Amino acid sequence: MKAYVGTILRINLTTKTITKEAIDPEMAQKFVGGRGLATYMLAQEIDPAIDALSPENKIFIATGPLTGTNAPTSGRYMVVTKAPLTGTIACSNSGGYWGPELKNAGYDMVVLEGKAENPVYISIVDNEVEIRDAAHLWGKKVNDTTDTLLEEMADPKARVLCIGPAGEQLSPIAAVMNERFRAAGRSGVGAVVGSKNVKAIVVRGSKKVEIADSEKMRDILKGAMGKIRENGVTGQGLPKYGTAILVNIINENGVYPTRNFQQGVFDEAEAVSGEALEANYLVKRDPCYRCPIACGRYCKADDMEGGGPEYETLWAYSADCGVSDLKAVIKANHLCNDYGIDTVSAGCTIACAMELYEKGYIKEEELDGPALKFGNGEAIVEWTRKMGAGEGFGAKLAQGSYRLADSYGVPELSMTVKKQELPAYDPRGIQGQGVQYATSNRGGCHVRGYLISPEILGLPEKLDRLSLEGKPLWTKIFQDLTATIDATGLCLFTSFALGAQDYADMLTAATGQEWTAEAVLEAGDRIYNIERLFNIQAGFTKADDTLPKRLLEDPIPDGPSKGWVTKLDELLPLYYEVRGWDAEGVPTEKKLKELGLA
Ligand code: SF4
Repeated sequence: MKAYVGTILRINLTTKTITKEAIDPEMAQKFVGGRGLATYMLAQEIDPAIDALSPENKIFIATGPLTGTNAPTSGRYMVVTKAPLTGTIACSNSGGYWGPELKNAGYDMVVLEGKAENPVYISIVDNEVEIRDAAHLWGKKVNDTTDTLLEEMADPKARVLCIGPAGEQLSPIAAVMNERFRAAGRSGVGAVVGSKNVKAIVVRGSKKVEIADSEKMRDILKGAMGKIRENGVTGQGLPKYGTAILVNIINENGVYPTRNFQQGVFDEAEAVSGEALEANYLVKRDPCYRCPIACGRYCKADDMEGGGPEYETLWAYSADCGVSDLKAVIKANHLCNDYGIDTVSAGCTIACAMELYEKGYIKEEELDGPALKFGNGEAIVEWTRKMGAGEGFGAKLAQGSYRLADSYGVPELSMTVKKQELPAYDPRGIQGQGVQYATSNRGGCHVRGYLISPEILGLPEKLDRLSLEGKPLWTKIFQDLTATIDATGLCLFTSFALGAQDYADMLTAATGQEWTAEAVLEAGDRIYNIERLFNIQAGFTKADDTLPKRLLEDPIPDGPSKGWVTKLDELLPLYYEVRGWDAEGVPTEKKLKELGLA
């Protein structure tokens, strides 16, 4: 079976045993790899109802069959586990170089189970795998941890994945970081790593990923690269301005959530746009492994420099907090990376705290730092530092916006779905995006089905963002295609230019198994359904497929989307129908049989 390495590395931290097992070829084809195969295995091996931070939870760090090949953007790996933030399935993925290095070392996946007695890190150098003491690393930030491990490995080409202090403190918004600035950011996966007393996994491999038909692959990649280059988003917008190119576009549509989603237009958007970032702070572009798009930024503000900020981060810390000071946003982003916190959840939690403060729920005397007022640039930097360090009121913020707002008796002021903070698109003016947020298996999220692509950018075709027509079916297709793209190990951004057939062709040439466009979408459907089943077994119901009350009841007060709310009541039953789920959102026997899941 080509493209897969064929070996899974399993590390039991309680018993300190390291075993290697063969990948199941039938399951690999059925679930593709990465997000799919790891979710299947997690669901088989743990009870979905367990506490996410208990030793019974497991972590699957998985690559896809295309990770580490010469396909464009093939640098990705996924962290699949039960999420402490939401209690749902979590799958956070990241680019960079760590994933390909793991495959080069000879493993498709690392499974962590149990809990180490004391802090440890894991060293993987080809066949040599060791659990090592990490007492000297515990408490260190991400950059320091990376520097120390690179020195210890005495190999500058080793790749470091680690958690920061936020993960050690079990913050439910802690990220897993790799190569300093790349983040498997969402759902608190960093806290699960911390709960196992694992600080880092450093990896170095000397092999190459073998694919089935190199000649065929060369031809297919020529075509795919051409499409990526010619596409306005992947060939021009993203390379030139990074993901922050979206700031002005989303703002012009009146769906740029501002001041904790109280408004849909940010008057100072220009000051925090991708264009402003490029003109004033960009040091260089920072692409992931084999990426021709190179959306990654590397910026400097005063004494802080590093990767990002990307669009979601920039929005969470600027418009959502009412801040137009781009320098402060860059610093807050840097602190998130170094403490290992999810930038979206962190920025949104500060935005929520600002609303709580301005409405009198959070009292002045509770704060041991700057006033939590919308527009306060100093506040976003200092409160991010305190969140990361778990210091004073910052420790409360590090629990995420839902737990924060709930502690004041107003959970509805947290702009979350299933307790995970929503990203940078107000669904009241983008109806398909609304149903996608509500039904996302990992809670509030845009990268489970990026309906912004057709509804705002017009790719692959322009849909009326305010119309409900066809949106449930489009949502399903985008969710399914995304699930397979994640499972392959490619970056979702390729989907601006490529379609299901392109992924099928790459999979066929790489694995030697026959893939069609239909099979690609069906595999995504299968993955989406096993995730859904996991959530149902974890206790989630139809009542959880919803949006914050504000987005359902309070019309956007200003701008081009003025007067709109998300019409979820109308969209949700239709969505369940196109999914083949019953009226309660439970996959039917017939659907599961069709997908080979029953
Ligand atoms: S498009 Fe951006 S995130 Fe995706 S692989 Fe390339 S640099 Fe990384």
